[in-house]
Amino acid sequence: MTTLTDRTALFIDGLWRAPDTSEIIRVVSPFTEQQIGSFPASVSTDVDAAVSAARKALRRNDWSDLSPVERARVIRRFADELEKRSEDRVAAVTHQNGMPIELARFAEGAAPVQLLRYYAGLAESMPTEERRASQPMPGTTIVRREPIGVVAAIAPWNFPAVLSMFKIAPALAAGCTVVLKPSPETTLDSYILAEAAIAAELPEGVINIVTGGPEIGQYLVSHPGIDKVAFTGSTAAGRHIGTVCGGMLRPVTLELGGKSAALVLDDADVEETVTGLATASLLNSGQTCYMSTRILVPRSRSRTYVDAITAMAEGLQVGDPMEPSTFVGPLVSARQQDRVLSLIDQGRSEGGTVTTGGGRPADLDTGFFVQPTVFADVDNGSTIARQEVFGPVLSVISYDDVDEAVALANNSEYGLGGTVWTSDEERGIAIARRVETGSFGVNTFNLDWGSPFGGVKASGLGRELGPEGLAAYQQLKSIFLASS
Ligand code: NAD
Repeated sequence: MTTLTDRTALFIDGLWRAPDTSEIIRVVSPFTEQQIGSFPASVSTDVDAAVSAARKALRRNDWSDLSPVERARVIRRFADELEKRSEDRVAAVTHQNGMPIELARFAEGAAPVQLLRYYAGLAESMPTEERRASQPMPGTTIVRREPIGVVAAIAPWNFPAVLSMFKIAPALAAGCTVVLKPSPETTLDSYILAEAAIAAELPEGVINIVTGGPEIGQYLVSHPGIDKVAFTGSTAAGRHIGTVCGGMLRPVTLELGGKSAALVLDDADVEETVTGLATASLLNSGQTCYMSTRILVPRSRSRTYVDAITAMAEGLQVGDPMEPSTFVGPLVSARQQDRVLSLIDQGRSEGGTVTTGGGRPADLDTGFFVQPTVFADVDNGSTIARQEVFGPVLSVISYDDVDEAVALANNSEYGLGGTVWTSDEERGIAIARRVETGSFGVNTFNLDWGSPFGGVKASGLGRELGPEGLAAYQQLKSIFLASS
């Protein structure tokens, strides 16, 4: 792995600004365990400057007063400039978080560009004013959709570029301005986003980026100049942010953790199902929020599935994330590796049977790797089945009938994703209707930019993506007219 740049400035008000601190945050490669770059650790006055720039930009006529068509033109220019820098951004993400490069090319390179273009199209086509006949009194009401204001966008490290864009693209399309705070593990790629914004001549202050960890995030979330918070991250941090926003009556979107289930029905094809499960349950080395990591299988076919899932896990290529054939890279940090290994130990101590994996790969001395690991005959009440592991660890759980499978799927604190595997799509859709979740896949799990994504229960509040994701950045205003 090569060294990424040491960044010394912050992107605020369309310019590279010297931070009000000399403190830096070092970035460590999860593959080589060597330092690969650094960036300043923002302090509160840097956040003040970023929020103030975003507020100023909100009022300036070169942004919020633009017609949707003009705003869409600027967003498309931004998409074009980002596209030119995709390979650099993809490499930056993989160097920082160990995401397998082929996945990064799509998720962190192409997808953010697609999202900007999708929301530019939506900005043009979605009316911002609608006239309705009033009732019961005669008259007319104009219902306006106005930009909600300055958005604090807080992103995690697992899919830093695309999850930032889940927020930035609809916010810009709605006419909002943004202060982005990436995760400290994955901040360097956001400097490339800033370079694209400069090249696209995005008006000053429309996007600002502050750096740092939870403390600076907390300061941003509770800042008086913020109008809405959009957060993706852990349920623990989400609860805290939700409490702060509740106290301030500040709109908030929370995309949090998950512990989703794959319901494998008795009519499913074993080979196709297990092939599909590799991506539905282990994408990004298991560090994806909507993974189907509790695999529910008919008891009568339990042995067949345990063997097939074990063989699948053993067949995945583990190693250098820059190698196109790698499916499982290192986990993001030593802390994440320790967390996953300790959950595996807990699974064992609670009586779980590990059929493959269960530790660090013997042939990889450096890097924060964990072997793809499969637990057989797991009890749905055990820690390994209840807690989000966020690593390459699967739990196979047996059920006797479909009602029990649905009950097991729903018996979770979370409700983010989930899948069903069957040769009968209608049967799968019927199951999908019964699972308490924000999104669900039948024989697949692919996010759709045009449809809402988010969670129920401890998986979050609100939705991103689709027209609903744009509406989350708009405020409604009704103007009552005497004339009919
Ligand atoms: P995290 O909650 O530790 O951090 C996420 C971001 O929030 C980081 O930028 C962090 O600096 C910041 N932060 C942390 N505490 C904060 C606070 N109190 N106030 C303000 N900002 C704060 O999460 P993580 O470890 O970076 O990411 C992994 C988690 O994210 C997993 O639980 C995963 O399921 C979840 N996630 C959810 C989705 C989704 O769409 N539902 C998507 C990806 C990841």
